[in-house]
Amino acid sequence: MKFSAADMQFMRTAMELAERGQFTVAPNPLVGCVIVSADGRIIGQGWHTAFGQAHAEVEAHQSVSPADQPLLAESTWYVTLEPCNHVGQTPACAALIERISPKRVVIGVRDSNPAVAGGGIRRLRAAGIQVDVGCLEAELAWQNRRFLWNAETKRPWVVLKWAESRDGYMDGRPLQERQPGAGGFPITAETARPLTHTWRALEQGIVVGANTALVDTPQLNVRSIEAPSPRIVLLDPDGLINMKHALIQRNDNLIYVVGPTKGPATKHSCQWEVKEGLDALLERLYAEFNLSSLLVEGGATVLNDFLKQDAWNEIKCWRSPAATGGGLPAPSIPDHSLPLPHGLASSGQVGVDAWTNRLHSRHASD
Ligand SMILES: [Zn+2]
Repeated sequence: MKFSAADMQFMRTAMELAERGQFTVAPNPLVGCVIVSADGRIIGQGWHTAFGQAHAEVEAHQSVSPADQPLLAESTWYVTLEPCNHVGQTPACAALIERISPKRVVIGVRDSNPAVAGGGIRRLRAAGIQVDVGCLEAELAWQNRRFLWNAETKRPWVVLKWAESRDGYMDGRPLQERQPGAGGFPITAETARPLTHTWRALEQGIVVGANTALVDTPQLNVRSIEAPSPRIVLLDPDGLINMKHALIQRNDNLIYVVGPTKGPATKHSCQWEVKEGLDALLERLYAEFNLSSLLVEGGATVLNDFLKQDAWNEIKCWRSPAATGGGLPAPSIPDHSLPLPHGLASSGQVGVDAWTNRLHSRHASD
């Protein structure tokens, strides 16, 4: 299917609308919808604003003014993701579109979620509506990479994140100074914080190992931008953490990952042993807590485990201009990793610090 320049422009508008839900829709997908009249005017637009709220198609339909209602019969709907065909928290969007019966529906990417998977498209076609699929498909698959990965693997999308000095250290202190309660070792400048907090807000959970929790006592929340804080996933399979630890006391949304015998059971706990491997942990975090994505913030051992077990999708890394001359070595970005697709920036600079964003080679766009 060849799409016209106008098709792609309207779909791009729908994609930009979808992006507005980036901090609030997970584990749902990002969806945008634009309704265009026969003479090429946008008469309705909407996006999925937050988990549990109305879907994009419903929002777009509701935005059509009474004066424009008669134009719906000849309209074209641009939807970034295949309309849902199952009644979930809201009625099925395919049923809404079927009832309106517009002339044409243009869909960006198919929904690989088994509950939808082609059903929305079939339903609309069966109703005699022209349905064209695949407009800006690759870009929209990227926009919903977490959601599509969840459907495919039943695991969260995993982003590894760390900050390193110019000479490759995560912490410039010698081992004897990296003891419980020592506090964090700042690598990046204050100016890096808003982007770091944006990286947090984009994922549903922040993973941190017990040792880092003990030494750094990090806050791991979102403070310098307007966005909700993700859940904190504290890995403590060996039961090193005292329940009075600030990270546990301060966060009622914490997921505490404990070994089957060593850790205390809490209502937010997940049982896991290191020897089961990270895939088992990821499957559990997805199945039990519905986490669509994770930002793994450390420490070095945890990050290296994710790299060694190939249990990651993206890497986000800060590099400061200063050298520490020693300390805790940072992980290495694998040579086979890729830059981001679709012309997105894979590196940049904020203040004095440089950032890099790489993608796992399994996501090569052919
Ligand atoms: Zn829907």
